[in-house]
Amino acid sequence: MTLLLDDVTLTYPDGDGRLTALDAVSLEVPAGHLTAVVGPSGSGKSSLLAVAATLVTPDRGRVVVAGTETGPLDRAGRAALRRERIGIVFQQPNLLASLTAVEQLQVMAHLSGGKPKAVRGRALALLDAVGLADQAARRPHQLSGGQRQRVTLARALMNEPSVLLVDEPTSALDHERGAAIVELLTTLTRERGTATVLVTHDRAHASRADTLIEVEDGRVRSGTRA
Ligand code: ADP
Ligand code: MG
Repeated sequence: MTLLLDDVTLTYPDGDGRLTALDAVSLEVPAGHLTAVVGPSGSGKSSLLAVAATLVTPDRGRVVVAGTETGPLDRAGRAALRRERIGIVFQQPNLLASLTAVEQLQVMAHLSGGKPKAVRGRALALLDAVGLADQAARRPHQLSGGQRQRVTLARALMNEPSVLLVDEPTSALDHERGAAIVELLTTLTRERGTATVLVTHDRAHASRADTLIEVEDGRVRSGTRA
């Protein structure tokens, strides 16, 4: 199992008490498999991704990423695991305003010490894979919302992650453009063999996934094959 959450509980400080954001959540995502997570605002979807990304340590439970038990890792160990194994796409496309599309991807690999020429070739191939071969020299302000989201997807794949975590990538897009992003995500998941988790508000989008899970008040209400 490429991504495993086992009986994960996460609380946040809340006044005098604690707020339970995730309540005994378990989830398994194999390689090449797309799992969609739906649920109302505040139900714990982003918290689930943050735990899977090792950005937040749960109060209880296990998180295993590509065979690595994350509990015993220190901060540096978790950072290395994220860099090498996990691709993350946040809700807001957080691109750097001054860089071209291809440079956004090159920066990622530069951080992990890739050879410049090979890195550029890989970046261009990935932009091609997300349908932006002819936009490589453009900066964020010259791209549409959907194109910017494609760049962030390509960037997340730059280090060939085993696990791909995507938080509401379509929230700023109309339904049709959103559907195209989800379609792309299903293709990339299959082609690259990532264990992908897609958080989405849109049930029509979620129905394209291999598995659909519903969260409410931090609990997984149901997990069905989509
Ligand atoms: P969703 O992504 O489904 O909207 P979240 O995971 O963002 O839900 O939030 C789940 C619950 O945890 C909400 O009640 C939210 O207010 C709370 N929460 C999220 N992040 C924090 C935080 N950093 N500190 C305190 N409470 C938080
Ligand atoms: Mg959220």
